[in-house]
Amino acid sequence: MDLTQFEHQYDHLTHDVADVKRAISNKLMYTVGKDPVSARPEDWLHAVSYAVRDHLVERWMKTTRAQYTQDVKRVYYLSAEFLIGRTFTNAMLALDMMSVVRQALAELDVDLDVLTELEPDAALGNGGLGRLAACFLDSMATVGVPGFGYGIRYDYGMFRQRIIDGRQMESPDYWLTHGNPWEFQRPEITYTVRFGGHLESVGQGTDSRVRWVGTDDVLAMAYDTIIPGYGTEATNTLRLWSAKATEEINLNAFNRGNYFGAVEGKNHSENVSRVLYPDDSTPSGRELRLRQEYFFCSASLQDIVHRYLRTHTGFDALPDKASIHLNDTHPVLAIPELMRILVDEHQVEWTKAWSLCKRIFSYTNHTLMHEALETWPIEIFGRVLPRHLRIIFDINAVFLAEITSHVGSDADLLRRVSLIDERGERRVRMAYLAVVASHSVNGVSALHSDLMQQSIFADFAHLWPERFNNKTNGVTPRRWLAQANPGLANLIDQRVGRGWRRQLDQLDGLRHAMELPGFLGAVRRVKRQNKERLARYVQQHLGVTLKPEALFDVQVKRIHEYKRQLLNVLHVITRYQRILDNPDAQWVPRVVVFAGKAASAYHTAKLIIKLINDVARVINNDERIGDRLKVVFIPNYSVSLAEIIIPAADLSEQISTAGTEASGTGNMKFALNGALTIGTLDGANVEILDNVGADNIFIFGNTTPQVAEIRAHGYQPRQIYESNPALAQALNAIRDGVFSPDELGRFQQIFDTLVNWGDHYLLLADYASYVETQSKVDAIYRNSDEWTRRTVLNIAGMGPFSSDRTIAQYADEIWKSRPVVLDFGPEGI
Ligand SMILES: *Cc1c(COP(=O)(O)O)cnc(C)c1O
Repeated sequence: MDLTQFEHQYDHLTHDVADVKRAISNKLMYTVGKDPVSARPEDWLHAVSYAVRDHLVERWMKTTRAQYTQDVKRVYYLSAEFLIGRTFTNAMLALDMMSVVRQALAELDVDLDVLTELEPDAALGNGGLGRLAACFLDSMATVGVPGFGYGIRYDYGMFRQRIIDGRQMESPDYWLTHGNPWEFQRPEITYTVRFGGHLESVGQGTDSRVRWVGTDDVLAMAYDTIIPGYGTEATNTLRLWSAKATEEINLNAFNRGNYFGAVEGKNHSENVSRVLYPDDSTPSGRELRLRQEYFFCSASLQDIVHRYLRTHTGFDALPDKASIHLNDTHPVLAIPELMRILVDEHQVEWTKAWSLCKRIFSYTNHTLMHEALETWPIEIFGRVLPRHLRIIFDINAVFLAEITSHVGSDADLLRRVSLIDERGERRVRMAYLAVVASHSVNGVSALHSDLMQQSIFADFAHLWPERFNNKTNGVTPRRWLAQANPGLANLIDQRVGRGWRRQLDQLDGLRHAMELPGFLGAVRRVKRQNKERLARYVQQHLGVTLKPEALFDVQVKRIHEYKRQLLNVLHVITRYQRILDNPDAQWVPRVVVFAGKAASAYHTAKLIIKLINDVARVINNDERIGDRLKVVFIPNYSVSLAEIIIPAADLSEQISTAGTEASGTGNMKFALNGALTIGTLDGANVEILDNVGADNIFIFGNTTPQVAEIRAHGYQPRQIYESNPALAQALNAIRDGVFSPDELGRFQQIFDTLVNWGDHYLLLADYASYVETQSKVDAIYRNSDEWTRRTVLNIAGMGPFSSDRTIAQYADEIWKSRPVVLDFGPEGI
């Protein structure tokens, strides 16, 4: 099928500037309620959003109807986070309406680009895990997997970060204050979610059952968002749950004239969907978080069972009609919740219910870091969810008995694999529950999937090797190339056609384009324009002037010790000191860009932000340095900011300690936009290396086995510090207050962590290799044809990193789902 032809045809047939203009004007008047003469830009944004949304609604209804009549298996993707970003431009690109809308608005004297900047990000996630969920929704719709995302409609998403005096300041993200034109509230789709209470036994012997009574109840109300597919009329649904009090008002209190008391309970129960936890790596240990997790799992499972029972009787066919995927452990309560619904509410026999579960659930692991593995103290768990704790105990008893019957009684093994950690305060191990109940457990890169089976799940991998597999992450090329980098997208279109948006492998065709006259120059011009766009942003927001001919060296991601922003800082300081020592050398000018948020309770990460800003202030104001080195920390990293920063990068910093980054997806976005990677052999960097070739990526540092060996032999950072003068000079500058003259000891702790306290992430062990590799980067950058050739080979090699490929593998190998057949759309043409 020729997509180009299809898109032109489609554009031509469906969208006509006069029609779109009329639609926008109608929405402005009759939906937004504004007169064009007094409408503010926000009003126009809403009007045009509703006009665009109408086109999606038609597709949505057709798809939903087709899914229903064909009774296809649906994939339910449960995730506590969806880091979606903006929807408006994405929707227009999916509908191929961009140019028509632009023109229609222009005729109404409105600038499309001004409107797009007004849309707030839907930031219902912290970082990579939430963004992966958003890319997956896009790909499921595009590939035609009948999917449903389930999550929480947080009133406040990821906090807004400001940098004041070099420090992170957090403020609430009021993303819903102007309303959200992309969601449909569904007051009729509401479920009761119960908490607390206690258990009673009823009946005797085989008839005995458990009743869960005396609970505190909250209502979960659905809000639906349409997820359009690209180049297909298929759409999917993201259903997010919002908490509503079961009783608006306490009538007793109201009658006594206690009006505040009358709404107190309402506010309390609605808190459960109030705010996203600003942390993706440590369990907050807070009861409210456990309540959030159960809240959305319970509502989603009730909804799934309800949908199934509308057209089926009995539960035998449930695994053929529903796959439930758990994105990390946050939705693992879905497992005991399905058991509860089947056993308590539908009187399904326990063994039968359990075997259904094992055919329905699948689980993705996202981290091996011990402190990030979710566990809950029995005490809290039993108080908030007594029925589910009992179910987990029962699952555990059956599971441990099964092991004993298979391998004999091995007390040590039983202790290790038990769903309850009996050491110290007893805790429920959520990841183990996920593994025991799922037919598939996957990691997110080849390396991480291997390590997962050797470390945290070693005993389980031994018991059930067939359960474990790898699904390397990907990113959607619609948002991360077509939308974020229209200049490059255009250029690629001219060389290999438009098909890469759905078949990213077609980028491979760029290898030939390299020989064509003018191509490398054109690639360079696009990169230059993207760098100018970022430089304008930085000038406007930070007042720092960046020269676009400098090498833009970029590290943007959550601030975390394992990601090693500090290693980058050490290189920056070394470079600064070398320029001062040798100002007349031919330095390749560099701009080092940082962005990222620190979890609000993560003191060290916040100190790293302060250090970056202090180093930036000193270097940027040192007149001896000039344009040879500039450092900026861009506040409030988000999807929309990533869309500006990533296309402007020359160098992508992916420098985590080998064995710590499960996959990374930032690494993929950068390479897809023509940045070269400097990175360790960690996560998906390993596979990027395989696909772009060793000549086109800068790999440095210790490998995972070497890291293990260093740790096993006792890491001696002080020896490294004492034997490397350049390193010592950089570290001493941090310790002695060169960057903090107002508070000399401010960064002593950072120095001690790296030099004296046996730093778990081995920064100093990789320093020499890193700095040396940075010099190779400079050498290649001097030869701009060579550099550009390598960037093209990176873009050309990124075919496998489309989330469409990832989703096709999940669909074939885990979910066994088939696309819905639409009697229209490109497949039908
Ligand atoms: C892609 C992305 C991430 C993940 O980046 P990593 O480098 O893989 O950690 C985090 N936040 C945002 C906004 C992103 O777009």
